Amino acid sequence: MLEVSKLSKSYGKTEAVKNVSFTVNEGEIAVLAGPNGAGKSTIIKSVAGLLKYEGKIEICGYDNKSIKGKSMLGYIPEMPSLFPLLTIKDHITLMAHAFSIKEYEERAERLLKLFDLWDKKDKYGSDLSKGMQQKVSICCALITEPKVLLVDEPMIGLDPKAIRNMKEVMLELKKQGVSIVLSTHLLDSVEELWDRIIIMKNGEFVLSKARDEFDKQSESLEDIFFKVTEE
Ligand code: ADP
Repeated sequence: MLEVSKLSKSYGKTEAVKNVSFTVNEGEIAVLAGPNGAGKSTIIKSVAGLLKYEGKIEICGYDNKSIKGKSMLGYIPEMPSLFPLLTIKDHITLMAHAFSIKEYEERAERLLKLFDLWDKKDKYGSDLSKGMQQKVSICCALITEPKVLLVDEPMIGLDPKAIRNMKEVMLELKKQGVSIVLSTHLLDSVEELWDRIIIMKNGEFVLSKARDEFDKQSESLEDIFFKVTEE
């Protein structure tokens, strides 16, 4: 479970996020949407513990900057950053060791096969395409078995098969009770995934609603987005 209370973040005079609070329950997928500059990445990076901010962020009841909190958090950034001189297999091993995950080999094989990386596991980070790097970054986050998963623009750079696999993986994690936050512009790509939609504008939430709070079940995310952001 992820709990964010009264989160604010300024960069100099720019108030990027203004006093926002939200909760993502176990097994819930929250989609964070909003125009460029709305503050989505700032929220994701704050939750990931990469920024200084005001407010409180808890991962399953633990502060997000505590060792316990960090051990339950997975983060898939928009731009993957791999070590050029480590192989795909090395990246997975490094993550598993850093998070003290034992007996990860079977899971690693399943993930790497799912994302068509198994036969490339001895390739170096420097020799991978952007899409392959993104897939390695996904596998690295998932090998740690996070309870809360942050995904910044999950589908960008992935091929259609990887997009389908990524969606299946997220639905599987949801069944296992993982809380997921997805930040995306590609609303139709997450249409079958979302349980909560949070729409931001100028650092504030203009909408935060669970799927079952909408009267018209047929309303698409894109319809909701344009209705709210163009009001
Ligand atoms: P989004 O992810 O929704 O596009 P961001 O969180 O990246 O929005 O940005 C929110 C606001 O904060 C924007 O006005 C952006 O220009 C500003 N901002 C983001 N990162 C920085 C930074 N490192 N330094 C200064 N301003 C920033």
